[in-house]
Amino acid sequence: MDEDQHMDEDKSEEIATKDSGGLKTDVSRRGLLRGATIAAGGAVMFSAAFATQQAQAGNMTQQAAAYQPGPKDGKRCDGCSLFQAPSSCKLVAGTIDPAGWCRFWVKKS
Ligand code: SF4
Repeated sequence: MDEDQHMDEDKSEEIATKDSGGLKTDVSRRGLLRGATIAAGGAVMFSAAFATQQAQAGNMTQQAAAYQPGPKDGKRCDGCSLFQAPSSCKLVAGTIDPAGWCRFWVKKS
């Protein structure tokens, strides 16, 4: 590949845009891809942080989960896979009684 051919390829990757002031700006495709990659990386990091926060404590209200402080049909929070001893839940917010129950009860494996 000679120098002129390389230059032509670089120019073919340039995208001409106009900003709001009417000034012409050249933005390379590589620059756009680099920016998109950085933005995607930030989104992944935000998602991971959000997932970690969700794993630590639930955000659903007790009312939305139909939580009750007592057991139902022998099912108790301390037998649920989402229960976090001593008194919290991965799904439901607030203090969770080990003897409680909600409609999202999942048998601990
Ligand atoms: S039954 Fe499970 S999901 Fe529902 S509040 Fe108790 S521990 Fe959380």
